[in-house]
Amino acid sequence: MNAESRDGCDSTNSGVVTLRRNMSLHALASVSRLLATLDFEEILESIVSAAIELLGASRGFLFLIDDAGTFEMRVGRNSAGESIESGGETSISMSLVRQAVKERKCVYVRGGGDLPLDADSSMMRLGIGAALCLPMTVTELKSGREGRANRRRNWTRTRDVIGVIYIDRPDPGKPLSAEDYALYAAMGNLAAAALVNAAIYQDAISDGLTGLADRRHFQRTLAFETERARREAHPLALLMLDLDFFKQVNDTHGHLVGDDVLRKTGQLLRAHTRPSDLVARYGGEEFAVILTDCSLQHSLRVAEELRAALKAAFAGGPPGPMTMSIGVSAFEPFRDPSPEDVVKRADEALYASKRGGRDRVTAWSPELSADGSRADALRGLFSGEPSRDYRVMNLLMQVIFEFGAGGSPIARLERTLERIREFVSARRIAVYRPDGTRVAMICHASEEGWSQAGTADEPAPSVMAMPREEADGWSRGLSRGGKDLGVMVVTGQESEKGPGAPEAAILDALAVQVALLVEEIPECERTASFREDGWA
Ligand code: GH3
Ligand code: MG
Ligand code: MG
Repeated sequence: MNAESRDGCDSTNSGVVTLRRNMSLHALASVSRLLATLDFEEILESIVSAAIELLGASRGFLFLIDDAGTFEMRVGRNSAGESIESGGETSISMSLVRQAVKERKCVYVRGGGDLPLDADSSMMRLGIGAALCLPMTVTELKSGREGRANRRRNWTRTRDVIGVIYIDRPDPGKPLSAEDYALYAAMGNLAAAALVNAAIYQDAISDGLTGLADRRHFQRTLAFETERARREAHPLALLMLDLDFFKQVNDTHGHLVGDDVLRKTGQLLRAHTRPSDLVARYGGEEFAVILTDCSLQHSLRVAEELRAALKAAFAGGPPGPMTMSIGVSAFEPFRDPSPEDVVKRADEALYASKRGGRDRVTAWSPELSADGSRADALRGLFSGEPSRDYRVMNLLMQVIFEFGAGGSPIARLERTLERIREFVSARRIAVYRPDGTRVAMICHASEEGWSQAGTADEPAPSVMAMPREEADGWSRGLSRGGKDLGVMVVTGQESEKGPGAPEAAILDALAVQVALLVEEIPECERTASFREDGWA
């Protein structure tokens, strides 16, 4: 094909030249702005729009070329911005596209006599007056020879075409100047750089197996989206999804088949959610979906659709039936807690789905947290060592006994605190409300000197201001049904080291009971008591 080379004749009219140059610079500037964009799909669309504008074209297409040299049409648009569906490429001259790739340079053809008959007639048949094809190339530096010393001198440049922009219009228009060619080449290079930039970013935030967002990107997005939901007063929902009995797939069919199931699950989740939702691989065979602007009710419908779609997708083919369990938690602006809490709740709901028999959707409710903390609280309490287990059992019985015992709630709280202090051999144990006022304090007799200095109005130690997880190992947050009741602060043994596993397990378990007692005590009541060690 007789395509024009870079020395096409110049326009003689300087006004037209200036106008065309301005248009070209404008299009170039809009493509260079794409370098700051990280959304691959948005870049593809914008490149085509800018290219259409550049030539006053009636149609624009963008093809990407994979490592095997296959062309994939990613965008097709007319000048009104309407999509031209895949298959539209049959109406363009693919030989022109191939020529641009082969020669790695801009190719421009005009109908109307200066082409060989076959190309000319095919352009006429397709109603194309002029077409421009722009390769998008990236330059890679590759070290030529082995050996450290020579490496610097032996860099070789290799240019790779990653795609092609094709635009055309019905009238032949004017020939291009050398300057036009230089501008178009620059535009192709900028478009390629923007795409590579976005691709590197996509790669960095994606899970290698499924191509979904990775866990870090999920956490960043959740923090951003919950903040936005709070600011704009929009609801948001989180789904946590876990494949049921996935280990059996690996065990029966091998890890490669297991990997295929994970990939297919990822595709399915993407296909059944909106582009604005974030689908992530949370880890292993666990996925997370952030549904933006989505109420709890609606998110339950989405979750149910995903569950049913996965079951249907695997019903017929290998590796056999697959199901998944889903937990849903909604974030309501002004009411709900941190992004971490939203994840924790969805996780609790997911495990309720597992416990309930799998292949189901559960919405989070406060009772799930209560169940969860009770189950957690029993973990690690018993060790199998008779003397320790006897002491633990004895302590639990005494604490349970305090619930049925007479006396004021504050007296029962004091006795419970003393049992705990004694068990963990602490010097001091105190309970503070969320506003920092102290509800109760129990000290070992040797602490009396210290405690006299304190008054009942003494504010809570700095532990109140710290995020709970950063407070030292001796402190425990107190809450019931999601309501913050304060903190139990234990001052450890002589050495300031944290509690060992037995002490930590007891504090975890009994924080729930302490919270129950604190809830019973009227807000205004408080006390400080000093007991002899070994108080009975
Ligand atoms: P449950 O219904 O309780 O969720 O059971 P399960 O078998 O799905 O869960 P379990 O946690 O026992 O097993 C998860 C398995 O997922 C174990 C692990 O080998 C497998 N797995 C994690 N990541 C990958 C991966 O990238 N590829 C493959 N093939 N397997 C993975
Ligand atoms: Mg599983
Ligand atoms: Mg799992």
